[in-house]
Amino acid sequence: MRDSQPHIVIIGGGITGLSAAWHIQQTTPETTYTLLEKSNRWGGKVITEKMPGLDGGHFTIDAGPESFITRKPEAWELTCELGLADSVIDPGSETRHMFVLDTGKPVEIPLSPVKFIRSPLMSAGGKLRMLQEPFVPAKRDGEDESLAQFVTRRLGREALDKFIGPVLAGIYNTNPETQSILTTSPVMREMEAEYGGLFKGAIGRMRAARHAKMSANGHPPKPRFMTFQNGAQELVEALVARLKGDLRLGAEILRIGHTGARYEITLANGEQILADALLFATPANVTAHYLEVLAPQAAKGLAKIRHENIGTISLAFRETDVQLPNPINGLMIPRREKRAIDAITWTSNKMPARAPVGYALIRVFFGGSAPHLVEYTNPALLSIVREELRAMLGITAPPLDYRIQRWPHSFPQADVGHLDLVDAIEAALPDGLYLAGSSYRGLGVPDCIRQGRDAADKAAARLNGNTFINQLKIEG
Ligand SMILES: Cc1cc2nc3c(=O)[nH]c(=O)nc-3n(C[C@H](O)[C@H](O)[C@H](O)COP(=O)(O)OP(=O)(O)OC[C@H]3O[C@@H](n4cnc5c(N)ncnc54)[C@H](O)[C@@H]3O)c2cc1C
Repeated sequence: MRDSQPHIVIIGGGITGLSAAWHIQQTTPETTYTLLEKSNRWGGKVITEKMPGLDGGHFTIDAGPESFITRKPEAWELTCELGLADSVIDPGSETRHMFVLDTGKPVEIPLSPVKFIRSPLMSAGGKLRMLQEPFVPAKRDGEDESLAQFVTRRLGREALDKFIGPVLAGIYNTNPETQSILTTSPVMREMEAEYGGLFKGAIGRMRAARHAKMSANGHPPKPRFMTFQNGAQELVEALVARLKGDLRLGAEILRIGHTGARYEITLANGEQILADALLFATPANVTAHYLEVLAPQAAKGLAKIRHENIGTISLAFRETDVQLPNPINGLMIPRREKRAIDAITWTSNKMPARAPVGYALIRVFFGGSAPHLVEYTNPALLSIVREELRAMLGITAPPLDYRIQRWPHSFPQADVGHLDLVDAIEAALPDGLYLAGSSYRGLGVPDCIRQGRDAADKAAARLNGNTFINQLKIEG
């Protein structure tokens, strides 16, 4: 890299940091970058493992994200930019054969009118209240509220307790009473503002989707959710293969300080890297630590963002050992059920190619209702999970094999008022320092890609503006 070229250092090589690096490379080739990742692999929470099958073949296990919504277009756009569209598979509807545990038993979430009327999940009064939703006045003041407040206001308390709460809490591994709707499900408030309610909004959006079968820039039609034939990590591998900057794994940062207008990053091996801009793509609780001296006010705000535990265990079975009377693709487990696990995905029902023929792959989420489980040894955890599978689904066969991933204190929680807190943190940042990633403005992979791009744009705009001004000064 030439010393005269503006240089950006990105810290954190998850999907956010990788997307920021890619965006800099694509949009401002005059800017150089270094990407520092502490661990020995790229991708952060995006992890795909191949687990050998018994008689050939393998199980494809996504330990972290498995599929991405395309309504938020960034993951799809990135896929197309990387020439990966042919590897995309449609994981099918996220809502087909979805169940919720109700007093210990799985009950199907009723998504068709007939199933809704017949469903034992809710009382007649609760159903009637839900049906009044189109007549509930819309809130359009832009104020944040909890997910629980929103759902209760529009659909009634029973809808919250019995199915919408568990589904959304299952997705975000959090408590709907504290969770900010504007950060985690802004689409529901958008539907309310745009169409006057959720039912009208769903119909309106379905019509709009029908009209937009082809995406605007001529790419092939995209599914509603997307994943990759070889697992989510395909996206990370394609990105890393195309990044031409200074990429470092196993990079341990000792200190970050200033020399003049530049940031000085000292690595554990003694090396110092100078940066004109610094982009943190690490979880807020990690970033807070580095900013204690550089930006104490921002660090205090970052420390307020809670990060919970989360983990997944994927278990392989012979299909004949885990036959259920009705197919189940997913089971959400509300906290009121007081179980040790949070959700179950029957991966091989949703995506048969993820397991060899004749075998089943089941993924269990833990760490929300029983946070201490992330500290359990593998055998202790397995034993608890097997007991839960027995109690909820009647599965008694031992798994043929399994894989576990744990992320202690790493799953960000967006409480009501979260976006105001993020605004205040950003306002307290020194010049040339930027934040992006799952702790801030949405935690889905498309949100992370968008934030990586936005932060890269802001950093590059400032640096290239400075370069231009410096050049004017020299020339003048
Ligand atoms: C179990 C699970 C399931 C999920 N399912 C989905 C899904 O289906 N769809 C979806 O869209 N999203 C899903 N998500 C959310 C999504 O995967 C994450 O929010 C997203 O991957 C986070 O990306 P990130 O780059 O912001 O952070 P991370 O992936 O956490 O990356 C941060 C990186 O920073 C590195 N790092 C940490 N400290 C330092 C340091 N001091 N110096 C340098 N590097 C450091 C870490 O090693 C890591 O690589 C899921 C998440 C989990 C955990």
